[in-house]
Amino acid sequence: MTASSYDTPSNFIQTIINEDFDSNKYGGRVHTRFPPEPNGYLHIGHAKSICLNFSIAAKNGGLCNLRFDDTNPVKEELEYVNSIKRDVKWLGFDWGERMFYASDYFDQLYEYAVCLIEKGKAYVCDLSAEEIREYRGTLTEPGRESPYRKRSVEESLDLFRRMKDGEYEEGTRVLRAKIDMASPNLNMRDPVIYRIMKVPHHRTGDRWNIYPMYDYAHPISDSIEGITHSICTLEFEDHRPLYDWTLEALDIFHPQQIEFARLNLTYTVMSKRKLRQLVEEGYVSGWDDPRMPTISGLRRRGYTPESIRSFCEEIGIAKANSTVDIAMLEHSIRTELNSSAPRVMAVLRPLKVIIDNYPQDHVEELPAENNPESPAMGARKLPFSREIYIEQEDFKENPPKKYFRLAPGGEVRLKHAYIIKCVRVVKDEQTGEIIRLHCTYDPETRSGSGSQRRVKGTLHWVSAPHAVPAEVRLYNNLFTKENPDEEDDFKSFINPHSCEVLTSCLVEPGLSKAVAGSRYQFLRQGYFCVDPVDTTPDTLIFNRIVPLRDTWAKVMKASKKQK
Ligand code: ATP
Ligand code: MG
Repeated sequence: MTASSYDTPSNFIQTIINEDFDSNKYGGRVHTRFPPEPNGYLHIGHAKSICLNFSIAAKNGGLCNLRFDDTNPVKEELEYVNSIKRDVKWLGFDWGERMFYASDYFDQLYEYAVCLIEKGKAYVCDLSAEEIREYRGTLTEPGRESPYRKRSVEESLDLFRRMKDGEYEEGTRVLRAKIDMASPNLNMRDPVIYRIMKVPHHRTGDRWNIYPMYDYAHPISDSIEGITHSICTLEFEDHRPLYDWTLEALDIFHPQQIEFARLNLTYTVMSKRKLRQLVEEGYVSGWDDPRMPTISGLRRRGYTPESIRSFCEEIGIAKANSTVDIAMLEHSIRTELNSSAPRVMAVLRPLKVIIDNYPQDHVEELPAENNPESPAMGARKLPFSREIYIEQEDFKENPPKKYFRLAPGGEVRLKHAYIIKCVRVVKDEQTGEIIRLHCTYDPETRSGSGSQRRVKGTLHWVSAPHAVPAEVRLYNNLFTKENPDEEDDFKSFINPHSCEVLTSCLVEPGLSKAVAGSRYQFLRQGYFCVDPVDTTPDTLIFNRIVPLRDTWAKVMKASKKQK
């Protein structure tokens, strides 16, 4: 390829790749990896990294590996490995034959550590963790050298082997890189690269008594796999000198580490540690609770892989951290479902309406288009009868001005049906609660009949004898604060109204056949998805994905006007 034949760089990482093509740095190869630590479920931030790594490889004719960074046996579990594989696949990416584990390289990593000791670039240190911290110094003060730094190569080799063989207790010794205790970068002040941990590992069992540190294992794993561009988030910028030092000290293939800004979203938290707390302490029903920013939570809520990918594309790749408005994520699914989801009628808080002048036991089948944005989606037949339900909030006994819904003596159109007029309100004598309405209908006003009569309000409804009962779960932001991640006590900002469960909803009869995971627009309410976990043959449960009102589109419109 020549410089002029490349795509216009869509982000700064592509610019780097183009330069590498020009200089032939990696022989025209692009090979990336997505390296999750299997200590929790993936979240939308990981989706950004997955999309970036897999797409940039694909765009440049390269490959992307899936690698589990399983160097810390304490926090890792098979359940997480399986969920990660499922989520990456579901997002639409394929690692082919290239699924690896950092633990696959434990032997090699050990050999390389021995090699560093032999080269005089690593030593066994007997200081305690606390002493190491004290000796490290601070940003303003240089560190002090460990008394064990001058230990002979032979002694370090012997001690390291015995650490491996399990002769010493946890915390008594570590292996440290010998770099520079006066470096302004704290990561370079003789970092620990191996520690004793007598903990079984989910893949290597009790074979190892020592485990490598992430900062040591990561560059070597990248190198072994022939990764060219090792893309990570900004907090690793200060670790890059150590990444480079490790590869140079060992004189092995040297990938380029490139940092980008991590995704933060408003009204949620985005670290696995915090998400795990929400799960373990029962604030949510699990990792896949539809309020969670996890990929499994978003999937269960009703998000599609396409909407998440287009969101990740839209937010772009930057070098400075920022927080994205959660409304933008909601906008992405709304835009997709606007034209693809069938539009149906569901009454969430039913109020009975009897149409006095409609013949008893008569049922009409009214034609109803499935989605006016997509005529190809066709139409269905809706039963209409003398008794229907409308939404409680669509009736007001004492309506304010400009109330275009139903009121005593007032008229509305029933979507796909007739104009009705409210003639009587029946209340519970004790409580005063409205029990039902009596209306009359105008037979001349059937939708599609060419009737010229117009009224201001149009309501959704369901036919009482035909309606199907359902439960509807209305979700709101999980946190009441825009940036709960910034608070130590983030759990005190959990939104007590993040899930409202409505158990006496009624949906149109066609939905009795709705399959788990299918998505609908409930007219005037929002987008909903059949819950794939709790729905049973007897109980149909819908999750609200998003309400209809698009706050992000409004923000965009307003900002365009300002320009
Ligand atoms: P967390 O802090 O949520 O536990 P992590 O960085 O420890 O995240 P890893 O499993 O180590 O999680 O991450 C795997 C990959 O995903 C890394 O390359 C990491 O940089 C990237 N990643 C993690 N969180 C985000 C985010 N919010 N935005 C973009 N990329 C992310
Ligand atoms: Mg991590």
